[in-house]
Amino acid sequence: MPLTVKRPARLSWRSLLPWVVGILPVACGLTVMHWQIERELRASSQATTRQVVEHVEHILDNLANAAQVLLPLAGSPCEPAQLTLRSQVTRNAFVRSTNLFRDNTLYCSSLFGDFDEPVDANDYTDGHLWLMDGNSVTPGHPLLVYRLSDGARGAISTVDGDHLVTALRLIGPNEQLQLRVGNAWLGQDGRVHAGAPAPAATADVTLGSTRYPFSVHGGYAADKPAQLLRSQYPALLSLLLVLGVVAAGVCRWQIRRASSPSAELQRALEADEFLPYFQPVVRKGDYRWAGAEVLMRWNHPREGLVRPDLFIPYAEHSGQIVAMTRALMLHTAQSLAPYTALLEDGFHIGVNITADHCRDLTLLDDCQTFLQHFPPGRVRLTLELTERKLIEPTPIALELFEKLHAMGVMIALDDFGTGQSSLNYLRQFKVDYLKIDQSFVAMIGGDALSQHILDSIIELSAKLGLGIVAEGVETEVQRDYLAQHGVDFQQGYLFGRPMPADAFLQALAAQPGAARLPQGAPPEIMRG
Ligand code: C2E
Ligand code: CA
Ligand code: CA
Repeated sequence: MPLTVKRPARLSWRSLLPWVVGILPVACGLTVMHWQIERELRASSQATTRQVVEHVEHILDNLANAAQVLLPLAGSPCEPAQLTLRSQVTRNAFVRSTNLFRDNTLYCSSLFGDFDEPVDANDYTDGHLWLMDGNSVTPGHPLLVYRLSDGARGAISTVDGDHLVTALRLIGPNEQLQLRVGNAWLGQDGRVHAGAPAPAATADVTLGSTRYPFSVHGGYAADKPAQLLRSQYPALLSLLLVLGVVAAGVCRWQIRRASSPSAELQRALEADEFLPYFQPVVRKGDYRWAGAEVLMRWNHPREGLVRPDLFIPYAEHSGQIVAMTRALMLHTAQSLAPYTALLEDGFHIGVNITADHCRDLTLLDDCQTFLQHFPPGRVRLTLELTERKLIEPTPIALELFEKLHAMGVMIALDDFGTGQSSLNYLRQFKVDYLKIDQSFVAMIGGDALSQHILDSIIELSAKLGLGIVAEGVETEVQRDYLAQHGVDFQQGYLFGRPMPADAFLQALAAQPGAARLPQGAPPEIMRG
């Protein structure tokens, strides 16, 4: 229910809250699942790196074992040692070649027998291990070399890089695993790279061997958790999404329910926010205030004073108008009753009613309660009927109007001439007054046809013996024209705008010849 005529669109908490409520369980669920997956990945990464370390240690045990057996032969001639060199290749599953060196020269090889190649102890990490990206026999093919020395002589055994790459690939097929020796590392791509491997984006683990100078680096790619989330938890993920949508939906529904027009009107009714404003109705001739129309205003805590055309349609649609009118009549009676001295006998109080009031007889009680606030005959209650909602001439409605008349309550047809059933209403209900709609009053001084319509309405009311009230009188020309044509009462900005009770009473007291105010009246009214 928009309570201002035009409100710029803005992002309010009402529109944001359902999003927050919907996203919150999804975000929390995802965070917990992500944390759980990271824990699992770390545990798995630790297990695989340990396995690789153990496997490489096992390979190196083979190499160390062969070197250990060959060490006593280092320095002796190659020819007799060659058979032992070859037997170590055969006996140790992972050993590809064995060699002997002395004085920084590799002089005997299991592959070629006599050999001559320089050996530099500085190439070996801790003097023992060298990860090579190839040698003269297999250039470009990784090779891990183990060196065991005793002074200037020693034995060297090698393992083919394929064994290591296979271990890296098979032990951690879904993982990033690297073997690092000194300043070089071997990746699952089967190539030796210089430097240190980049840390893994997820579950990065580095585990060094306690027995040989190498370490294994493990971990997963950055998108691994999301991948796992999608592949392993599709049901949980869907459940989370459904939960989010349901939470957002329920929140939106609750907000809408709480801020629905009828909930807002109910709240306002309970908070007593509907106030009567009074617009004077003046009598022909002396233009003294002969009555007033009670017009509802909503004193909204945020929006301020709200015009009735912005909320009355909702109240009429929901049927809450009945309770609102009851509250308004009570407010009106309580505001005016202490100042009845200001009201002349038969002072008209017009109250707007709608079709909803005609469904049962409760309006009788409301009118009775209203009139009981005043001395008998002081106030003439007039109910103004509009055609916004068609009033059916049901037996209840007819009984209601009958009894209202018996009680002395009068009926006025509001906005006469604007609807289609004005004449029907005239026939069906015992109407006392016609209120000529302001659109006809605005025609005064206009073209001949318009004026003719107005004249006909006035004439009709006279013929039917009905009182007539002209609404929306804004100019003296209109006032004088209506007076000349025998209109009994006039209402419009020319005489007074709708005003709150204290201003109305003050203005009433200021009228020439107004009655004396009772003792104890508020000073602002007394001043009037
Ligand atoms: P209405 O019953 O025809 O009331 C007259 C409307 O014309 C009032 O507007 C009044 O302020 C306005 N008016 C009076 N004199 C002039 C004038 O000289 N020039 C112009 N331009 N306007 C004038 P308001 O107070 O905004 O009320 C609008 C409508 O809301 C009312 O029209 C009535 O249909 C409805 N309404 C107001 N209070 C209640 C209520 O308590 N119950 C119901 N059911 N409807 C109400
Ligand atoms: Ca009215
Ligand atoms: Ca009207």
